[in-house]
Amino acid sequence: MTIFSRIINGEIPCYKIAENDKFFAFLDINPVNWGHTLVVPKKETDYIFDIDDDELAEMTLFAKRVARAIKAALPCRKVGVTVLGLEVPHAHIHLVPLKHEGDMDFKHKIDNPDAEKMKQIAAAIRENFE
Ligand code: AMP
Repeated sequence: MTIFSRIINGEIPCYKIAENDKFFAFLDINPVNWGHTLVVPKKETDYIFDIDDDELAEMTLFAKRVARAIKAALPCRKVGVTVLGLEVPHAHIHLVPLKHEGDMDFKHKIDNPDAEKMKQIAAAIRENFE
């Protein structure tokens, strides 16, 4: 079982943003910018482009709703989208609020992000999720 499945099952805590029957969204624990969120399918698949067409389409639409909530909750120009997947073998979409291109630099993560601030950001995004 992947670490993301353990988060989805509630075995490992997370800053949860949203879920439905197929997908789950939570804050990245080592964010590149405040509000950096991961969207994952509940069904484990390592590589995002191995996901069935219909499920990938649904995942994109779920990520769109999460991105709209991030944009409504946090000051940013747009929400950037990236797929890496080199670390955790459970497909996920990174959503990052952007003011500048450098806000999505995966070589520079926020050092030891404050737990209270992470909690507040997750709550603000949750409130805007429709
Ligand atoms: P990658 O697989 O290369 O897309 O990177 C995996 C991402 O998952 C990284 O940005 C990590 O910070 C993030 N990550 C790993 N473990 C956790 C966790 N327990 N909770 C939230 N995010 C995590």
